[in-house]
Amino acid sequence: MNKSDSERIAAILERAGWQTAASADQADLVVLNTCSVRQSAEDRAYGHIAKWRRYRQRNPSFIGVVTGCVPAKEGDKLAKRFPAVDIFLNIQDIEKLPELVAEKRQTAFAAGTEYTDQNINYLQAVPHHQSNFQAYVPISIGCNNFCTYCVVPHARGREKSRGSAEILRECQELAAKNYKEITLLGQNVNSYGQDDPAEIDFPTLLQQVADISGDFWIRFITSHPKDMSDKLIKVIADNQPKVTPYVHLAVQSGSNKILAAMNRKYTKGDYLRLIGKIRQAVPKVAISTDIIVGFPGETAADFRETVNLFKRARFNMAYISQYSPRPGTAAAEMEDDVSRAEKRQRDKELTAVLEEIALEENQRDVGKMVKVLIENKKGSRYIGRTPQGKVVKVRGRGLTVGQLVEVQVEEALAWGLEGRALASS
Ligand code: SF4
Repeated sequence: MNKSDSERIAAILERAGWQTAASADQADLVVLNTCSVRQSAEDRAYGHIAKWRRYRQRNPSFIGVVTGCVPAKEGDKLAKRFPAVDIFLNIQDIEKLPELVAEKRQTAFAAGTEYTDQNINYLQAVPHHQSNFQAYVPISIGCNNFCTYCVVPHARGREKSRGSAEILRECQELAAKNYKEITLLGQNVNSYGQDDPAEIDFPTLLQQVADISGDFWIRFITSHPKDMSDKLIKVIADNQPKVTPYVHLAVQSGSNKILAAMNRKYTKGDYLRLIGKIRQAVPKVAISTDIIVGFPGETAADFRETVNLFKRARFNMAYISQYSPRPGTAAAEMEDDVSRAEKRQRDKELTAVLEEIALEENQRDVGKMVKVLIENKKGSRYIGRTPQGKVVKVRGRGLTVGQLVEVQVEEALAWGLEGRALASS
């Protein structure tokens, strides 16, 4: 979501006459688009802000702006803590950025907070896509779920769906420009439309995007298990391979006790039944997940439930995080009673289980032909992804970034595949 927002920020500034600088320390204006999902992400942002004093010494007209999740959560406090910041701006108000910057340039560098209520219209700003073959299309912002560990409902506000007509128009334009991959984005895409009785639901939206003519892949992130309906599974199955056989479905824990404490609204059994249904309907599907280890109250027995879930679910990929309390969330009021060393150990153990299963799953692809969208080049190798989202190192002549190629898989690794390109399209 932040990547997509950054593309909108770039487009808004370019429209106002700004140009991209070679590096932050040469820029007259730096906009820091922050994430506060983990403390480490916030700390990285603070590390960047710390450099701004030096930029300003060299260039007295330098302006530093902070947007994204951090100012929405604690703008006022930050204005006092970071006087080097000229403007704190809620991302939903990003259209005002050129005007605010112009004002600041005339009024020296008094720090101030600019924060207003959530306004989804900022998504109407046509983004400057960094890629000419892959695009993110936000379909909703915010979240109503209030998982107890998560800052998103506090930082991004309640869920608001973007109008489907606008989403479809953006997708049609991308398809007409021959984009190869469109990713529908939201904190919880599969509850799309629930905030607006006049709006279509997510399965209908996905079907309408799939009905747009063109040879492109459709992805969507991210989904909540409680909103993964039979109707949605059917749309995914009916539109293979255009809707890619890849589902990211965050489970967070395998312990029912911890799932309840996280306010996730499903049990381990519900989750396993759900992915069983998805696999039956979409046999080639790859499933990835998010996991938090060391949530408050997670005992060794609770963690074993998560290990057991991993072995039964056989995820193709998992993003494992060690729990850290986020101020303002319900979990931050709970005792953070799993030691750092224990969190590290659980992370390590789960990673080893994942690695073993992912390798076994990838080995099934050896000898097969897979379609790969080439995303970049590193050294003599091209790197791309299959419809299942598996990373593939590709050898071959005459390839170009942005191309769809057929690849013969020669080797399986835990975190991807290697192969040779045979034909291109
Ligand atoms: S559903 Fe996702 S974004 Fe919403 S509160 Fe839960 S973890 Fe956060």
